[in-house]
Amino acid sequence: MTGMETLRRWLDESERAVFFGGAGVSTESGIPDFRSADGLYNQKYDYPPETIISHSFFLQDPEEFYRFYKEKMLYLDAGPNAAHRKLAELEEMGRLAAVVTQNIDGLHQAAGSKKVYELHGSVHRNYCMKCRKFFTANYIKKVEGVPRCDVCGGVVKPDVVLYEEALDSSTVEGAVEVIANADLLLVGGTSLAVYPAAGLINYYARDRLVLINKTPTPYDGRANLILEGKIGELLENIRL
Ligand code: NAD
Repeated sequence: MTGMETLRRWLDESERAVFFGGAGVSTESGIPDFRSADGLYNQKYDYPPETIISHSFFLQDPEEFYRFYKEKMLYLDAGPNAAHRKLAELEEMGRLAAVVTQNIDGLHQAAGSKKVYELHGSVHRNYCMKCRKFFTANYIKKVEGVPRCDVCGGVVKPDVVLYEEALDSSTVEGAVEVIANADLLLVGGTSLAVYPAAGLINYYARDRLVLINKTPTPYDGRANLILEGKIGELLENIRL
């Protein structure tokens, strides 16, 4: 049986599969990832991206933070691709219990996924740091320079987990619970290099761990099935 046939059969048999993904899920939607050869980490900036998108940098130099963030992390015209759509379909069919994502682009929800744990937050939620007023991603994109609250003048911050910041504990607890109860764990489009997010897959306790990636990951030795390729193209070809 080929790898694709095995995955098709396992998905067909599953009742509470979980998908765990990262930036590679959205590259086929035109959003660059961080660690591919043409990803953000291999482009040149005045500071390394890890520095710019850190909590202390945000407070110290919000102008520069927002210059980078708006240009490189806010892709408001991007739409879901075949991977997002297939995962939404699997949930609708009662095969998939949840999506756990490191992405901040909201494309799983745009494709119709209902149960989504966003470990690193979302560009679609933004709050005034003083009065907590909510702002849309469009507001952030359109405003010149640092977005400020139209009511109190406070700086508006995206609800995105920056380096040095902790993950939201209820989101992590929810993700751990669905992963621990999963009958199949499908991991795709993530380098599994960002912690603590990557460590969550250690909560999966069964023997249907599937990895889909263009390149090897540190967890390849643990996988029961590895499919190498583009996740959108691969999932699109699975007929259930
Ligand atoms: P990463 O950039 O570290 O790794 C992406 C991985 O996906 C790589 O291993 C790459 O080979 C693989 N990949 C790229 N395109 C693929 C495709 N079409 N099919 C299969 N595999 C593909 O991403 P990460 O592990 O998610 O960690 C980076 C962090 O950056 C995350 O915390 C995330 O929050 C953030 N991020 C998010 C977005 C987004 O929301 N779309 C984009 C960039 C970065």
